Amino acid sequence: MQIAKNQELKIYNSLTGKKEIFKPINEGHIGMYVCGPTVYSNVHLGNCRTFMSFDMIFRYFKHLGYKVRYVRNITDAGHLVDDADDGEDKIAKKARLEKLEPMEVVQRYTVDFHTILEKFNFLPPSIEPTATGHIIEQIEIIKTIINNGFAYEINGSVYFDVSTFNEQKEYGKLSGRKLEDMIANTRELAAQSEKRNPQDFALWKKAEPEHIMRWPSPWGDGFPGWHLECTAMSTKYLGETFDIHGGGMDLKFPHHECEIAQAEACNGHSPVNYWLHANMLTLNGKKMAKSTGNSILPNEIFTGENTILSKPFSPSVVRFFMMQAHYTSILDISNDALLASEKGFNKLMEAIDNLDKLTVKDNSSFNITQWQQQCYDAMNDDFNSPILISKLFEAVKQINLIKEGKSTITKADKTILTQTLHSFVFDVLGLENKNNTASDNKIDGVIALLIELRKEARENKDFATSDKIRNQLAEMGIELKDGKEGTTFNIL
Ligand code: AMP
Ligand code: ZN
Repeated sequence: MQIAKNQELKIYNSLTGKKEIFKPINEGHIGMYVCGPTVYSNVHLGNCRTFMSFDMIFRYFKHLGYKVRYVRNITDAGHLVDDADDGEDKIAKKARLEKLEPMEVVQRYTVDFHTILEKFNFLPPSIEPTATGHIIEQIEIIKTIINNGFAYEINGSVYFDVSTFNEQKEYGKLSGRKLEDMIANTRELAAQSEKRNPQDFALWKKAEPEHIMRWPSPWGDGFPGWHLECTAMSTKYLGETFDIHGGGMDLKFPHHECEIAQAEACNGHSPVNYWLHANMLTLNGKKMAKSTGNSILPNEIFTGENTILSKPFSPSVVRFFMMQAHYTSILDISNDALLASEKGFNKLMEAIDNLDKLTVKDNSSFNITQWQQQCYDAMNDDFNSPILISKLFEAVKQINLIKEGKSTITKADKTILTQTLHSFVFDVLGLENKNNTASDNKIDGVIALLIELRKEARENKDFATSDKIRNQLAEMGIELKDGKEGTTFNIL
């Protein structure tokens, strides 16, 4: 393990409301589960923020030398339109509207999800299980919960009995809600509801004849409740108690509260030691959400095809923008914020590119070990990426000073500086220095060739060809600028 081995890593645990020293169940190993997407539409940037926060956390654990089993599921059944127990299944609804098989919808948006995450340079999770691949496990858990007296069957559906559970355990401890208050604040049970209490939630729902996503069960044909899949998959791959469970803040209640209740009702003990919740990305001050139309898709940002931003932004710039906020803070996206992030990102990459060229002296005018420690301290304090970035910029400042001859560095310190910057910028924050990739160098070469051909066309008065080159490059987001020194280009 790295330098931080002997330091304490503190994590804000939503369950206790405190920053706690992190102690994994098995030394050197971490089990982490994060609720994945419901694959019924393209992931918007808000969804990506939550997953990116956990990608950064996963990366930091790996950097520290932990063996991490990171499970992030795909929800491909059971998530109903109203996020509770009523309404159509989100995937079945999309399938009906688009005249597709539900599994075609699942495939289309799973592929989209993976493509986008790859553009953002995410590391793949260790296991990516699907809800439909774990129906048997979900049925087994329901049977145990019924046997333990915490669920009841009615008309082919099975509901979790929240009040019976609350007599022995505590329902609402994660979200800080009390069952009495929930009861006091709910209206009368809807007449058509078959639940004993409005707080009860579905473990299994009977499938009406028109419901196409259905599976046989001891209670008849039906489908599992949304909350149950995460209990089934996390238990299967990480055990009855595991280290970390993550998700967006909006999943705390009811989804995660119900996960805790299910696991405790099934296994008799708490499933998770540390609950982590990532905060929301907002647009115009409101939560980004597909359902309200207040959202932007990653591809719309990369191509510039949107009405919100003045220009396209690369995945690394968007990632850098996200990393500039702490994962538990709300973050609002705007054109100005992205422009500022782009400037900062370019400055950082430029400094990294300049590292090689720095001449070394026999003394260093800044304390590299202390700076390195501060980088770890930032990350060890609940993954404080904005503080880490401010430390990275202290290094940028030093690099620029050394370049100008106003500061000095030894050979050994230069090695530490290079390694530490590379580790944090590329391995932990997951940024990519696109200026440096071989494929980018090739693209630059191709554009230079097109510029040359355009020049020749103009000299031959073949303006149709020269305009075609300029216009088609512009359409691709490559802008040519004619100046005294010749033609330069800018990739937007
Ligand atoms: P869903 O596909 O709706 O189940 O959501 C997938 C993940 O995205 C969940 O962890 C949500 O908490 C998260 N999420 C949804 N909207 C936002 C947002 N505006 N900002 C950050 N995370 C979000
Ligand atoms: Zn979940």
